[in-house]
Amino acid sequence: MTVRYETHGNQDAAAPAQAKPHRPVLTAMLRGAANKCMNCGNGKVFDGFLATNHACSSCGQEFHHHRADDAPPYFTITIVGHIIIPALLAVEVLWHPALWIHMSLWVPLTILLALSLMRPIKGALVGLQWALYMHGFDPDAEDDLPFVPAPAPATVERLS
Ligand SMILES: [Zn+2]
Repeated sequence: MTVRYETHGNQDAAAPAQAKPHRPVLTAMLRGAANKCMNCGNGKVFDGFLATNHACSSCGQEFHHHRADDAPPYFTITIVGHIIIPALLAVEVLWHPALWIHMSLWVPLTILLALSLMRPIKGALVGLQWALYMHGFDPDAEDDLPFVPAPAPATVERLS
């Protein structure tokens, strides 16, 4: 029996890739957006507002591998901008409200929308990275840096 491996260009044809279990992208992103572990759906991704847990408390899936970086604010700004700006322009064209009405309407709405979208977006991005075996979420990856916990505040020395 011959086994055929699909390669994706960057893999060495002489060493066929190990078959990894399929990770459904949409489920992982929805679970991450709902602050649920993308692997088991039970544990929590976040420890605080935007800081992720080191690992899932239920199944042990490690989350510290994620490299969401600037992507959550980028997507948040894009989405919020595409909601607020057309709404602002529509209100201005239809009713010409006073400037103070614009200010008291759009500033709080923008802040509220940004704060409410940032965490689900980050969770979805971490879920996406997990589902695609990106960074350290790939158990075969060798290029990911090991997890180094931040030093406790008491151990940080002042230079002055
Ligand atoms: Zn889990």
